[in-house]
Parts: sequence; structure tokens; C-alpha cells
Amino acid sequence: MEKQNSLIDSLNDAQRLAVSAPSQSMLILAGAGSGKTRVLVHRIGWQVQVEGVSIHNILAVTFTNKAAKEMRGRVEELLNISARSMWIGTFHGIAHRLLRRHAQQAKLPETFQVIDSDDQLRIIKRLVRSLNIDDKQWPPKQMMWFINAQKDEGIRARHMPEPNDVFLRTQLQIYKAYEEICDRSGLVDFAELLLRAHELLRDNEDVLEFYQDRFKQVHVDEFQDTNTIQYAWLRLLTEGKDNLFVVGDDDQSIYGWRGAKIENLYNFQTHYPNHQVIKLEQNYRSTGNILKSANALISQNEERMGKELWTDAGDGELISEYTAFNEQDEAYFVVEKIRKWVNDGGLRSDVAILYRSNAQSRQFEEKLMTTGTPYRVYGGLRFFERMEIKNALAYLRIMSNHNDDASFERVINTPTRGIGTKLIEDIRLLARTNEISLWKAAVELLTQKRLTARATNALKGFLDLIKRLESEAEGKELFDKVKIIVEKSGLIEAYKKEKGEKGEARIENLEELANAARLFDYEEDNEENLNELDMFLAHAALESGDSQSDEYEDCVQLMTLHSAKGLEFKMVFMVGLEEGLFPSQQSVDDAGRLEEERRLCYVGITRAMKQLFITHAESRRLYGKETYPRPSRFLKEIPAECLQEIRMRANVTRPVVAVKKKPSTMQQVGTYKLGQRVRHAKFGEGVVLQMEGEGTQERVQINFQSLGLKWLMISYAKLDTL
Ligand code: ATP
Ligand code: MG
Repeated sequence: MEKQNSLIDSLNDAQRLAVSAPSQSMLILAGAGSGKTRVLVHRIGWQVQVEGVSIHNILAVTFTNKAAKEMRGRVEELLNISARSMWIGTFHGIAHRLLRRHAQQAKLPETFQVIDSDDQLRIIKRLVRSLNIDDKQWPPKQMMWFINAQKDEGIRARHMPEPNDVFLRTQLQIYKAYEEICDRSGLVDFAELLLRAHELLRDNEDVLEFYQDRFKQVHVDEFQDTNTIQYAWLRLLTEGKDNLFVVGDDDQSIYGWRGAKIENLYNFQTHYPNHQVIKLEQNYRSTGNILKSANALISQNEERMGKELWTDAGDGELISEYTAFNEQDEAYFVVEKIRKWVNDGGLRSDVAILYRSNAQSRQFEEKLMTTGTPYRVYGGLRFFERMEIKNALAYLRIMSNHNDDASFERVINTPTRGIGTKLIEDIRLLARTNEISLWKAAVELLTQKRLTARATNALKGFLDLIKRLESEAEGKELFDKVKIIVEKSGLIEAYKKEKGEKGEARIENLEELANAARLFDYEEDNEENLNELDMFLAHAALESGDSQSDEYEDCVQLMTLHSAKGLEFKMVFMVGLEEGLFPSQQSVDDAGRLEEERRLCYVGITRAMKQLFITHAESRRLYGKETYPRPSRFLKEIPAECLQEIRMRANVTRPVVAVKKKPSTMQQVGTYKLGQRVRHAKFGEGVVLQMEGEGTQERVQINFQSLGLKWLMISYAKLDTL
């Protein structure tokens, strides 16, 4: 009895019902912050403690590695046992683990390597070139999206009928050639991980039976964002068992653009006829004002299952809206607020800055850096994606698998060792003709003895270097292996020669890589004794994590709205709420995509527990161009009574004739007066109504004939007086 209490005492009635229901398929459908993830953790606890299921027989799928780590910790805390033998991770992480265990049955070489989207794109680019296909008509990036979209649907090139249309035929040809290269090189991209893992279970009855038997209970968080192949995989695993426990929220489905299917929520209800649905309606995360705003916003969407959230937490503070002059002013405002929060004793890790696109982070990073505020960026240019790190990893990869063409290409002449483009071209040609890997082609070229003495020496030097590194690293700890590569590959030497801070930073990053290898702790217990190096390399490709050492420092959190899913923070800044940025330009003319953007906005708002700031700028440099965006339509969908407008310099408003003497090089200041007629290059003609601010911060409000009211910064807006 006592056991049960700790598991359900802290839950409300609906949550309790979900946690303690007898084993069966269940769907917990509920809005943000209603305790879905909490229910999932307690459900696992209940099964272990009350139902006597071994932790070893539990599978849980989360959306990020960070969430998996947290969930494992919470289960351990709740049960006071080690949960190392519980399988928990992302779909990709779990698929990878299965493929490593059953490489042969999955028709993969033991040493297969996982590639990230950057490597995938490089391979496709090279392939398009080598097939003499016009990359204007068949842009590699678009081809990559096409290939991944097919894989997400479970479709291989051989399943597709030969099209009549040239464009489609060429596209299919690229898909086919890409599959061949990956097979030959033992490379597996992200979409392939999922597809292979599905095929592995589908085509190998013994493997399927083994895992169906092992996983007595299967749990999925954020189920609304599963794609076709992930759901098909879940169905195979739980076939005839009725043991799938999923939690989700249709209003938070934000990965449709990447193949996620909201329909899985409906399909689940047909495919698991004995399931039970439980709805949770009380929100425990946010204040009344935040929740009311989120509810009002999302009610504008038509495609909804429909649910309301309530809270008994009280209204709390109003949501603050700040209109910045430009993106720098926006960053200045945000960082000032954070400074004040920290001065008043707040933790930096309780603060998040959420943006629509990675490119927005730079302004905030700069301002945080100049004020000496520690911060951490999730996503963006991730640690493992930096050039020097990828180079070092490529050495490790090629040592593990000679046939890894992507890595071979990357390091054959990095650092430079006199292997010219002509020689590399020869190797590629031979590889293509004989359908062998680049490594094998290089060996073959040397055996044929057709190369010049210089070329022979250079190429032999490279192959010998790799073999030497291999024998030195043999039997060493992972950390030492990485150190050997970093020191002896010549990379450090090369970066030392690079002038300035860049080279230094690269060397520091390489040292950090060795550190990451030291800290690398293969989370699950390594029953199958998998090769630690391969696990580390896969971790580098899959992990969204940055360098690991600063994990425990108290930092401000910066991330895209997409990566904020499932998280919560006391203080949240949603920045750049402007038409064309959020909602994004591509979505404004497409009703379906616009609804997805609105769901993303709903996700953003509902990350906030106590304080929410929404900012937008009147002018913004975007992709190298000055733009004058309108505030996002989402702002207008938030009830006015929940919002307060804040001004940093409210006390300097002077609605009088401005007589200014200060000279300025940027624009004649002080020439405007109330009623002055002006012309703006973009907005046309208008009349000055108000002025405020001083110096470079001075701005005027103008009533434009075509657009209506607008505040502009005098030093930026190029205004002609009429
Ligand atoms: P999201 O949709 O954003 O993923 P969620 O539904 O998974 O949200 P949780 O993250 O599980 O929600 O819970 C939100 C917050 O509410 C957490 O801080 C959690 O600890 C708290 N919470 C959930 N249920 C209760 C409860 N019954 N009593 C007190 N706090 C609760
Ligand atoms: Mg959650």
C-alpha cells in the first residue's frame, strides 16, 4: 500500500486513473503542462513496483536525448533503483541500438557508421556531380528532402514505379545511386536508421519475437509527432499484445514538415480497439494569463480534437509585449531583463530565449557575451558539427570502417599532404567503375603502379598513417584513442599554423572532444558489449548536445521553438514575433502550414511558468536585407486583457515639437515636427505624429497613407522631408 502511495499521491484523479489502469493500450490526450510526461514516468514506476514488471522489460521513447536522460533520472528517483537496463531513448537512438545488435540481420556491416544530414548532403552533392546531373534543376538539398521523405514513408527506390517524366525519373535515379553508395560504404543516415529498424523487425521473425517478448510495456511521449515508419515500427513491436501506452497533444504537433502524422492519433484508436482514452485538463505549469493566451491562440485553428485547459494557480502577471526598434534593441531588452532577474536572485537556467530560426540566436549570444552572462545554445551549429570536430571524427570513423567513403573524402587531404584533386578524381573514377569503396580503389591504384612517384608516396603516406593510428589506438581506452588521433593526425599542427583566434578555438575544441570522450558514458548497460568507439561516433551524429562539460553550469537557455517541446522555464522570451519570420514566410499562404506555425506558437507560450515576454522589431536585417516587418498575427490572437505593452524609455516620450541641435552623421536629426510630411523609400508618404528617444535611439511615429501608424528609428529609416 505504501508503495502505491508514493506513486499516486502527487497526482490528480485523472492522472491516477491513467497510472494505475490495468495493463492495456492507452492514449493520454491532453494539452500542454497537464502532466502527460509525469504520468508516463509514474506509469513506468507503477508497473515495476505494483505490477512486478522488471525494469529490463520496459521500453520508453522520448523526443530528445535530453528528455530521455531526465526521464531515466526521474524513474530512478521514484523507484530508488538503478534504471540502467531500461531501454529509453529517441526513436533514432533505439533504432541505432537495434541495428548494432543485429547488424547482420539488418544487412549492414558490423562497422556501419551513422551520418548526419550535413554528411548526407555532401554525398548527394558529389553524386549529382558525378552523374552529370544539372544541380540547378535537381538541387541536392531538395533531393535530400525527397529521399528522406520516401524513407519516412517506408518507400525504397526499388518500390517506386519508373516514372515517365524526366524530372521524376532523374530524382529516382539519384535516390537509387544514393542507396548504392550508402550500402557500399556502410553508411546509415537518420531516416535510414528508422527504416532499417522497421525492416529488421518485419523481415526477421526471431528478432521480432524476441523484442515483442522482451518489451512487456511500450511507452511513447509526444506521440503526436511520430511519422509513418515510427508508428509502423511501434505496431510491429506491440502486435497482438495491447501494451502500447502513448501520451500526446494534437495541438503540439509541430513536425508535419518532417513527415510527422497527426493522423497517428486517430489511427491508434482504430488499431488498438481495446484501448482506453484519458484526458487531462488541469494545467500545473503556467499562470492563468499565460494559459488563457495559449487557449485563445490555439482556438483559431480549425483542425483540432478540441480541449480546454484550466489552472487554479491564479492569473499571475500579464504577458509583456515589447516593440523593439531593431534586432539589436530587441536583444538589448532581453538581456537587460535577464540581468535584472539574476541580480534579484533568479537562476539563469530558469530563463529561456526561444526563436523561430537558428539564425536569430547570434544577436542574443553577442549581448550575453558582452555582459558576461553564461548561456547555452541548443541546436544551431552543434559541437559535433564543427569542422575540426568532424575532421577528427572522420579519422576515427575511417579507422573503424575503411569503406566509409564520406570520411575518406573528408580526411584524404586534410591536413594537406600533397594529394591533389587529380589523384582524388582518379580514385573516385576507379571506385565508381569497379563499384568499390574509395579506400579499396586507393589500394588498387597503388597495386597497379600507374601513379607518379610523388602521387604514390603521398597516397601511400595517407594509407600508412591510418594504419599506424589504428595500431597505436588498438586496445586503448576511448579517451586515449581520441587523444592519439587528435595529436597524431596532424590536425593540431595544421590549426596551430592558422592565424588568430580561429585556430586557437579549433585546438580548444579538439581538446574538448577528448574530454567529451572521457565523459562519454554509455547510458544503458552495455549487455551486448558493443564497440565503445562506434557507440561514441553514433552519439556524435545523433546527439543534439553541445560540449558536455558545461552542463552543470547555471546558464541561460537558447533554443528554437521546436527544440523547446516538452520543457518548462520560469521566465520565457519569445522573440521575433513578426510576419514573415513567425509565422514563417513559406507558411503564410498555406492554411495547413499556418496552423502548424500556430501550434508552434502554442508550444512556445506554454513553456512559460510565471513570466512570458513577447518581442518583435520594427526593422530587422534578415538574410542580409533590411526588412520592416509587421507584428505577427499571433500577437493579435492573444486576448488584449492578458497583454501589457512595455517600453524601456517610456519616460522620454515628448509629444512636442522637437528642436534638436545634436549633429548626426547618419541622418539630419531635429528636422521633424508634428504634422511634417515625409516620404519613406518603402512605405511611401506619411505624416509625423510623435517623437521619442534621443541621439541614435530617436524615433518618430508616422501615419503612412497606405500602411497606417508606424514607429521608425530616424537613424535607420531613410526619410525625405516633403
Ligand atoms: P507538455 O505537453 O509541455 O509536454 P506535459 O503534459 O508533459 O507538458 P508535464 O511536463 O508532465 O506536462 O508537467 C508539467 C508540470 O506540472 C511539471 O512541472 C509537473 O511536475 C507538474 N505537475 C504535473 N502534474 C502535477 C500534479 N498532479 N501536481 C503537481 N504538479 C504537477
Ligand atoms: Mg511532456
